[in-house]
Amino acid sequence: MRLVILGPPGAGKGTQAASIVDTFNVVHISTGDIFRENIKNATELGQKAKSYMDRGELVPDELVNEIVVDRLHKPDLDNGFLLDGFPRTVNQAVALDAALEQMGTKLDRVINIVVASDLLIDRAVGRRVCPKCGRTYHIVNQKPKVEGKCDADGETLIQRDDDTEETVKKRIEVYEKQTSPLIDYYKAQGLLLDIDGSQAIDDVFEQIRRGLEEEA
Ligand code: ADP
Ligand code: ADP
Repeated sequence: MRLVILGPPGAGKGTQAASIVDTFNVVHISTGDIFRENIKNATELGQKAKSYMDRGELVPDELVNEIVVDRLHKPDLDNGFLLDGFPRTVNQAVALDAALEQMGTKLDRVINIVVASDLLIDRAVGRRVCPKCGRTYHIVNQKPKVEGKCDADGETLIQRDDDTEETVKKRIEVYEKQTSPLIDYYKAQGLLLDIDGSQAIDDVFEQIRRGLEEEA
């Protein structure tokens, strides 16, 4: 299956992606993770991306599109992929369609996670991540077994630089303006699977699982 997961910052895309990848055996491709990895490794791409990310703005399309198109050509995607955080503009969606068409394939489904803004701020500001393995937690909603430590490797959890209340608000605005037009773009293609993301993590996944299995 070739999937996109769409939704505002803090909606639960990464959290659901982990379960979708396990259940449907697809490869998770997160552009945010790719940028954060590049920042950690101090690459040129990381340096370019960081100033945009810290301000809560989008990294320019030309930087993002090339990375994703290259990634789609890697040989590990035969069983499909889940794109998380991409596309984020209509320009990126058009570039994605063109790249897939050139490869003789297309998207199967776009999962659209819908969550109200007040919940988003609470989720993103309370998010903690493991700097080693990337697992995501929440200080109230998804606590680690030992406070502040990753369940998988015991690493001390950190808060993302862009998960401050001010930057999260900015990212939600950017989402409304630049990314939400993709909902109509994919609806017109008959690909949209709307999911109520305000429910508990397991219940959200249950909706996604049912929606994707109906297709299969
Ligand atoms: P996104 O990738 O869309 O930015 P995440 O998956 O990282 O969002 O989730 C944001 C935060 O909200 C995380 O701390 C996560 O643990 C928490 N979270 C995710 N889904 C839910 C949910 N359904 N209910 C409560 N908290 C959630
Ligand atoms: P979230 O969904 O929680 O906002 P992401 O990890 O997907 O977080 O993205 C973090 C930041 O990385 C974004 O605010 C943006 O600056 C940058 N970014 C990630 N993906 C893209 C993209 N497809 N286009 C432009 N910028 C991106």
